[in-house]
Amino acid sequence: MPIPPTTVPPADEAPSEAASRRARGRDDACPGALRLHPADDGSLARVRTPGGLLTVHQARALARVSEVLGDGRLDLTSRGNLQLRGLDAACGGELAAGLREAGLLPSERYDRVRNIVASPLSGLDGAGCGDATAWARELDATLCAGAWGELSGLSGRFLFAMDDGRGDVAALGADVTLIATRDGGAVLRMGSGTDGAALEVRARDVPRAAALAAVEFLTRAGESGTRAWRVRELPGQHAVTADGLAARLADEGVEAVRIGHGKPGDAPGTPPAPGVVSGPDGRHAVSVLVPLGRVRAAQWRLLAGLASRSGSGELRVTPWRGVVLPGFTADGAAAAAREVAEAGLVTAPDSPWVGVGACTGRPGCAKSLADVRAHAARAVTESVADTVAGGPRSPDAPPVYFSGCERRCGHPGGRWVDALATSGTDYRLTVRDTREPDGETDGGTGGGETGGGVTDVAADQLAAAVAAARGTA
Ligand code: SF4
Repeated sequence: MPIPPTTVPPADEAPSEAASRRARGRDDACPGALRLHPADDGSLARVRTPGGLLTVHQARALARVSEVLGDGRLDLTSRGNLQLRGLDAACGGELAAGLREAGLLPSERYDRVRNIVASPLSGLDGAGCGDATAWARELDATLCAGAWGELSGLSGRFLFAMDDGRGDVAALGADVTLIATRDGGAVLRMGSGTDGAALEVRARDVPRAAALAAVEFLTRAGESGTRAWRVRELPGQHAVTADGLAARLADEGVEAVRIGHGKPGDAPGTPPAPGVVSGPDGRHAVSVLVPLGRVRAAQWRLLAGLASRSGSGELRVTPWRGVVLPGFTADGAAAAAREVAEAGLVTAPDSPWVGVGACTGRPGCAKSLADVRAHAARAVTESVADTVAGGPRSPDAPPVYFSGCERRCGHPGGRWVDALATSGTDYRLTVRDTREPDGETDGGTGGGETGGGVTDVAADQLAAAVAAARGTA
């Protein structure tokens, strides 16, 4: 049965993290396939795609429901999930049926718990040393099988990361992170920083170890009485410890060795750049960036068609608003990249769209002071023509993120340029340093520490100002 829409803020308008910690008396209100959220542009549903993995059939089903039930577009989230917007509040039953038929709703009970990111290029480019996509699939199956029924009580914000050793998704601030090691094992890390427990487990135990780590978190959260949603929210005296976690794993027959910090994966890896990615097996993948993370159904169908016609029949949605299409010949990949670019998506690594993001803004979010997506798009377009300030983009330029209010939902981590709307026509640019990116529903870190100069600028002057800020940050 579809859960009726709630009156909580929509996905991109979650309450601040600090406020949330004080108010954990209620269940979290993350949207899901069965739980629609009202927004200013209609209801919103989030479809979990563990590891970002989709078949062609599933991708086409998503295009269909977005056109029939929604606004004909799909949003790619910072966790590699997909969102449908502009839905009728009463369409829950029809939506669930369409998703279920495509295998996108394998478990109603665990739907919102299936938050798993995986290294998108795992097994495709010769980097990395583990099969992160297989881990993601197995963990998802483990969750949905219900072997540990209490895991249905995880918050919809709790995140698992399966990193193949390159350190890309390990930097996303997940609650449970598994990082492949060259010796055939994996580091199991709780929390995102050096303060979390860390153990080494066998690669074959990774999915079970991840699930058990989440069970241990729930146990600690229950003991603390705080109803914490994320590992970082546990009070210090109730934190998950390496010894406690090792004991939990041992009880279930999973061997684990306690390790120090600084093991592989601590150095952040980089997201896949747009373009053709060559593999050691002679196969090629096409890495596609979706400008501002929003794709039209027709564009989405093109990607599915290419995956079906010339690729391996698989699509991998990345946590950086991109899609990787594996399994092409060299010529096929080059042709596919051209076709995708002609359709308005990005396959050039030096595109001015690289590193540019924006929150929902107007008209989808009532809190937004401006149409930040339109302003971001205009800044990108004008930067191409502005040879003085826009110029060629440095590969080291920090990302820029446009936000309609101070919540800055979905902002990146690390060093970034914050373009914050201060009115419908004005922005404040600031260089910020944030330990980790904002989750797709956390929406409340506010952007972290201010690291650099503040510039007030009119919306029609953004292109030059943003280029200058990215050049000097
Ligand atoms: S305006 Fe943007 S940052 Fe503010 S709540 Fe809405 S989506 Fe989040």
